Amino acid sequence: MTNIEEAKERLIDQYRRRGYVSDEKAFEAFMQVPREYFIPENQNTSSAYLDHPLPLMNTGQTISAPHMTVMILDYLELEPGQKILEIGAGSGYQAALIAAIVGSDKDNQGHVYSIEIVPELVEYAIKNLKKAGYNELVTVIEGDGTLGYVEKAPYDKIIITAAGPTVPPPLIEQLKVQGSLVIPLGRPGLWQQMTRFRKKNESELVEEKLSSVAFVPLKGKYGT
Ligand code: SAH
Repeated sequence: MTNIEEAKERLIDQYRRRGYVSDEKAFEAFMQVPREYFIPENQNTSSAYLDHPLPLMNTGQTISAPHMTVMILDYLELEPGQKILEIGAGSGYQAALIAAIVGSDKDNQGHVYSIEIVPELVEYAIKNLKKAGYNELVTVIEGDGTLGYVEKAPYDKIIITAAGPTVPPPLIEQLKVQGSLVIPLGRPGLWQQMTRFRKKNESELVEEKLSSVAFVPLKGKYGT
C-alpha cells in the first residue's frame, strides 16, 4: 500500500468508528478520487489527507474537510445512474466524489452538473477534474447556483455546498418527486444545520436535520 492509501484507510477507519458514514459506496469513492489533485499547488500532497479544510486559491473559499465530503455522500443516498446538481463547485473535489458513485455503472452512467459563481474557480474545477479523470462525468457551469440549472432538470439529488438562509425556490422546482436536497441552513458565522429535504410530492417537502456544520456563505439571488 502507498502512503496515500494508508492515510485514506486511516481516515476511513476513524469515520467508521465514529459512525460518521454508513454507505460503503462513500468509502469506495473516497479511496478512488485523488484529493491531492484538488488542493492548492503550494500544499504538500500529504496535507490532502489531514482532516481539515483547505483554501481555494486566494478566493476566501474553502474545500471542505474530508470527513464532511464523505458525510455528504452518505446524506445524498447516491446510486449509480443518478443525475445530480451541485451548487458550489469550488475545487471540483466533491463533484468528483459524487461522480465516482453515480458514474460507476458503465451501462447506466449518471452525471453531475456543478454550478460555480466565481469565474476563476470554474476554471480551477475544470482543470482539476480533468487531471483526476472525472471531466466526462462532471459538467461545471459558471453562474448563480441559487437559480439552479433548468436545462438539465429535474435532478435526483441536489447538494448546496455553501450556507444559505433558506432553500432557494428554483432548486425545489428542479428536484424530482422522491428526490432530496441537502443544504447547510443558517446564517454565515460559525455553525449551520445540515438539513435534508425530501420532495414527497409537488407541494410537500419533508425536513430532516442532520448535523452541525460550518460552511462559507451562499451568494446569489437566494443566498445570504
Ligand atoms: N464543493 C467544493 C467546496 C465548496 S466551497 C469543493 O469540493 O471544493 C463553496 C463554493 O460555493 C465556493 O466555491 C463559492 O464560490 C461557491 N458559491 C457560493 N455561492 C454560490 C452560488 N450562488 N452559486 C454557485 N456557487 C456559489
